[in-house]
Amino acid sequence: MPAADGAPGSAWVLAGDAAHTVHPLAGQGLNLGLGDVQALARVLDERAYWRPLSDAKVLRAYERERKTAFALVGNTTDALQRLFDHPNTLVAQARNWGLRGFDRSAGLKHWITRQAMGLS
Ligand SMILES: Cc1cc2nc3c(=O)[nH]c(=O)nc-3n(C[C@H](O)[C@H](O)[C@H](O)COP(=O)(O)OP(=O)(O)OC[C@H]3O[C@@H](n4cnc5c(N)ncnc54)[C@H](O)[C@@H]3O)c2cc1C
Repeated sequence: MPAADGAPGSAWVLAGDAAHTVHPLAGQGLNLGLGDVQALARVLDERAYWRPLSDAKVLRAYERERKTAFALVGNTTDALQRLFDHPNTLVAQARNWGLRGFDRSAGLKHWITRQAMGLS
């Protein structure tokens, strides 16, 4: 997401959908974008006083943090999409059984909702 070409003060950063896209089925695109902004603001605020805003090391910290957050949402969404697209009826039955179980487990639903909101 970030890049610094070595020239002093020259760097750019991507956030939101420009940095990553996730299937709308996740309903997480905006949340991820807001998470990007929060992480970038914090990383810049907490940088050593002598590092400029364009410091590649600082921006890489932002990139690493957000790649991890995106991997969780992105991989989960991709897996769900593949599960719903699967043509095999046994897989569809197992999926429906699993989703009904998930719907009945209030604790698990609460935990996943908090993860999705970045409140882990
Ligand atoms: C069907 C659907 C349902 C969704 N549901 C959810 C949901 O339930 N929950 C959720 O969290 N997310 C959801 N999302 C995702 C969410 O809408 C996006 O992740 C979010 O809007 C991304 O925000 P952004 O600011 O990064 O990009 P955008 O919202 O795309 O904003 C980019 C802006 O830049 C402008 N722009 C583009 N090019 C230029 C240019 N050259 N110069 C100047 N301006 C430019 C555009 O006009 C636009 O206003 C959904 C997305 C879709 C498609």
